Amino acid sequence: MKVQAYATHSPTDQLHPFQFMRRDVGPRDVKMEILFCGVCHSDLHQAHNDWKNSIYPMVPGHEIVGRVTEVGGEVKKFKTGELGGVGCFVDSCRVCPSCTAGLEQYCVEGCTQTYNGYERDGKTPTYGGYSTHIVVDQDYLLHVSEKLPPAAVAPLLCAGITTWSPLRHWKIGKGSRIGVVGLGGLGHMAVKFGAAFGAEVTLFSTSPDKEADGKKLGAHRFAMTKDPDTFKKLAGQLDFIIDTVSAPHDYSAYLSTLKLDGTMVCVGVPEDNISFPPFSVIMGRRSLAGSAIGGIAETQEMLDFCAEHNIVADVEVIPIQKINEAYDRMLKNDVKYRFSIDMASLK
Ligand code: NAP
Ligand code: ZN
Ligand code: ZN
Repeated sequence: MKVQAYATHSPTDQLHPFQFMRRDVGPRDVKMEILFCGVCHSDLHQAHNDWKNSIYPMVPGHEIVGRVTEVGGEVKKFKTGELGGVGCFVDSCRVCPSCTAGLEQYCVEGCTQTYNGYERDGKTPTYGGYSTHIVVDQDYLLHVSEKLPPAAVAPLLCAGITTWSPLRHWKIGKGSRIGVVGLGGLGHMAVKFGAAFGAEVTLFSTSPDKEADGKKLGAHRFAMTKDPDTFKKLAGQLDFIIDTVSAPHDYSAYLSTLKLDGTMVCVGVPEDNISFPPFSVIMGRRSLAGSAIGGIAETQEMLDFCAEHNIVADVEVIPIQKINEAYDRMLKNDVKYRFSIDMASLK
């Protein structure tokens, strides 16, 4: 079917109205009318070709909540009328050790990105959630509870799972002293999850005006990173840090706040390479690690936990026509704390 969307055609282009064809619903496919799509900083990085792998025209969007409008003959997991969610990938090889372990995001062949990728045929481009409809294999679609507002659930599909997965993997819980770097889309979910898991959360931020919000979201301590005393005071204090920063910054300063054997996990992806003195990790036997989104099973677990504990993103709902303005504001750290596009604005 022909769908309406917003696309960009080059790194310096803005997003404009665009039309393209979604595939027919196959036996294992589900078609959804998209209700809301969150705006991730990865959308902006890829629209601008920050990571040097962009495919144009690009329809961004990988925080998708929609309503099922059609299911294929073999579909058992979803029914017409239910809510569904699509995150950052829509397929993977399904047979490699990562896929069979439910860690499809680390598929050895590379998972099929929801946009800025190609289907498994290697040549059909994928288009994301800044569009009215999506067709997706039932195995890569998530169940979304009717209990929560869908506009605020959409960001859980990337910002939520990207912070949930490392917090779970590194077993953050009661007694953990953790740092969250950056209070944006990912950062505010990391603060909420860290607090929900019982950790003591220190929020590192460059924005003094975010202190009150940070504490309301669950942070126990606010650390202004522009104040050099911050790093002296916190030296050797934390067990774990999740770094969500989207722009180049000084990793060694944050590493210095880790205890013996502490771990700092990078989830933010600035366009430049990371550089830091080896002593930042040698002293204190510290680790610098990374983590990518999350697998289908753990994403479902996260969504179910959020429904049970009433956790959603804090969103500013916008019409698609405001998307270029939203990108400009995101670059100025002026988002509280995720834009969510109301796709009804595209009809
Ligand atoms: P966002 O909403 O724009 O938040 C980023 C935050 O980083 C800002 O709000 C700001 O927080 C802080 N920041 C920005 N520039 C900074 C600078 N120069 N120095 C220090 N702090 C700075 O972005 P997001 O959507 O949360 O995404 C964050 C990053 O994660 C992006 O690079 C994105 O591509 C990446 N990402 C990775 C994965 C993964 O799987 N690993 C998944 C999704 C996104 P303060 O105002 O509090 O300082
Ligand atoms: Zn994302
Ligand atoms: Zn695989």
